[in-house]
Amino acid sequence: MFGAMIEPRIGYGYDIHRLKKGRKLILGGLEIPFERGLQGHSDADVVCHALSDAILGALALGDIGTHFPPSDPKWLNANSLHLLSDVWKMAENRQLILGNTDITVVAEEPKLAPHIDEMRSRLAKCLGAPVDRISIKATTNEGLGPEGRGEAISASAVCLLLVPGD
Ligand code: MG
Repeated sequence: MFGAMIEPRIGYGYDIHRLKKGRKLILGGLEIPFERGLQGHSDADVVCHALSDAILGALALGDIGTHFPPSDPKWLNANSLHLLSDVWKMAENRQLILGNTDITVVAEEPKLAPHIDEMRSRLAKCLGAPVDRISIKATTNEGLGPEGRGEAISASAVCLLLVPGD
């Protein structure tokens, strides 16, 4: 099926995790200083999870819950960059390259702007892609909803996968 796949593929992913005291805040593979972190079985990195789901969506291969079930102790406190790297191998195995990805993180606090470029370079390294193919934007939720009340951080991602041109 994928052998005949020569067309571009787009994917979309979304994730949200609760903020909790006593956890490290990891976003885009980077530890960000904050008094709370995201709760989850793995490191709960919503940026890596949303991007992983976008890539799996582009490949029509399900979601990270199926590939890395939270019931499996193997993924306890897992570094989500490693999950992303495993997901990316599935795209590489199909001879696809990253056209680009665009990610939006919704967090009332902390301020993410100072950390965006480091997150982009970590994702770029993980995917073996130039950093200018990776966009990360951060926004608040204007005090609305779980992100706005500071109860959670969410992220959504789109990606475009391409067959390298000849
Ligand atoms: Mg998640």
